[in-house]
Amino acid sequence: MMRSILAAAALAAALGAIVAAQQAPVAQPGTKWTEEQLRQAVAPARVGRKLTPKSWPNNARVAVCLSFDVDNESYLLARGEKSPTTLSAADFGAETGLPRILELLDRHQVPASFFIPAVSAVIHPEMIPAILKRGRHEIGVHGWIHESLPALNDAGEEERLLNQAIEYLTKATGKRPVGYRAPGWAFSEHTIGILRRAGFLYDSSLSAMDEPYELVSNGEPTGLTELSIDWTLTETPYLGRGGTMPSPTQLFQLYREEFDGAYDQRTMFVLTLHPHVSGHRAPLKHLDELIAYMRSKPGVWFATGEQIARYLKDANKSD
Ligand SMILES: [Zn+2]
Repeated sequence: MMRSILAAAALAAALGAIVAAQQAPVAQPGTKWTEEQLRQAVAPARVGRKLTPKSWPNNARVAVCLSFDVDNESYLLARGEKSPTTLSAADFGAETGLPRILELLDRHQVPASFFIPAVSAVIHPEMIPAILKRGRHEIGVHGWIHESLPALNDAGEEERLLNQAIEYLTKATGKRPVGYRAPGWAFSEHTIGILRRAGFLYDSSLSAMDEPYELVSNGEPTGLTELSIDWTLTETPYLGRGGTMPSPTQLFQLYREEFDGAYDQRTMFVLTLHPHVSGHRAPLKHLDELIAYMRSKPGVWFATGEQIARYLKDANKSD
C-alpha cells in the first residue's frame, strides 16, 4: 500500500513537471514585430531559382545522393565529454559503422558523400584513406569539432574553425572540399557570408524544398547550390539514443516512399545517415534493401553532392 502511494506520488510529481514545462511562459517577441521586421527575420536564407534540370545525365529520372555525417565522438568532445562509456557508443561509428557502410556501398558499386568534422579524422586517421581508396566518394566539411554555430554566435571564431577544418581536410584528402553541411544542421546568422567567402560550390544544410535550388540571402542570389536535406530523411531523432522509433522498418518505408516521389517528379533524393547509428545491424539491413530497390529501377543516377552540384551549374547556365 505504502509502495503504491509512493509510486502514485512519483507519477503525480512527474506529470506535474510535464504540465509545468508545457505551461512555462515562452517569450514571443515576434508578436510585436512589424511586417518589415518579419521579412527581415526570414531574409538571410530564402529560396531562389529552382535548379531541377530538364534532364539528368544519361536521361536519368532522378538523382540520388546518399550522404553520411561522420560525427563519431566529435560532438561529444565539443561539449567536453570524457566519459569512456558515452564516447564508446560514438566510437562505434568509426570502429564498426563506417567499415560496414563502405563495404555495403562497394557491394552496390554506388558513390556517397561523407561530411566529416575534422576532429573525427584527427581521432580516427584511418577513415579518410579508407573512404578515398574506393575512388567513388566525396568528402565534405562538417565543422571542426561539430561545433554548434548558433551557440558559438561569434563570426570570427566560426570562420577560424571553418578555415581550420578546410585546411585539415584539404591536407588529408589532397583536394579542397567543395561541399558543406553545418554541424547539427544549424547555421548562425554569420554562416552564409562565411560560406560564400570560403568559396563553397554547394551547401546541404537547409530544408526549404525537396529539389535543388539556389540559395538567396538578403535578396541577393548567392551562387550557392542548395542540396536540401530534411529531418525526416535522417535517422538520429528516431533510432539514436532516446529515439522515438526504435524499429527501422517504418523509417525505411518512409525513405522508400520519398524516393518513389522524387522518381515520379524527376528530381532529387538526398538521404543522410550517421555511421554511429545506421552502422548497427538492423538499420544497415534496411539500407541494403533500400539501395537494392533503388538500383532495380531504371534511370536512377547515384551521385555525390559534388557531381550533382557541378551538373546543375552547367545545366542551369543557359537558363
Ligand atoms: Zn553531424
